[in-house]
Amino acid sequence: MPGTALVCIGCGPLSSDGGQWYSAGLHPWDVTGNDDDKFRILEKLLSDPQVIAVGECGFDTLRGPSHDVQEKAFLRQVELSEKFQKPMILHVVRDFDSVIRLHKLLKPTQSWLVHGFRGGPEQMRQLHSNGILVSFGLKHNEESLRQVPSEQLYLETDGKCTIEQTVLAAAQIRNEKTQAIEWQILRNNNILLQR
Ligand SMILES: [Zn+2]
Repeated sequence: MPGTALVCIGCGPLSSDGGQWYSAGLHPWDVTGNDDDKFRILEKLLSDPQVIAVGECGFDTLRGPSHDVQEKAFLRQVELSEKFQKPMILHVVRDFDSVIRLHKLLKPTQSWLVHGFRGGPEQMRQLHSNGILVSFGLKHNEESLRQVPSEQLYLETDGKCTIEQTVLAAAQIRNEKTQAIEWQILRNNNILLQR
């Protein structure tokens, strides 16, 4: 249902069930340095109103091509995010420094949201103070999820669990009602997507 879920499709086709929201992007694992064809597909996808975000894109030091190659693809996607006025969903493994450096340098108008954040509160605060948001899945650092301010709370599923499970986990850790959490993430999503 629109407004309740955002599905990442890479550069693949939109599924036929209308009314869904999607994000499209070139994942750092899939970048090769010879990606012009994929970028052409991505541009087409991003002009579809059902595609409301760019991503996953970002940096992974454990998997994928060299940092330089990942960074070039990332920068092209920042350009697309700004051109289409759609926020970025970031996949970041052990390279938050690059993301912070580029955010400082580029000063994007669109939000950047790191998905599947598992770092501690210190790292979360460092990202937040640099204007970068984080989203929590079922695997997370409990202290970070407890401490994240309500206005900066974003939750996700990794495809294996339902969003309800993540909401329930967050409600327990934060000692809040599930309804309050749901209301808050809907509100935050609307702000993120400028709707
Ligand atoms: Zn990811």
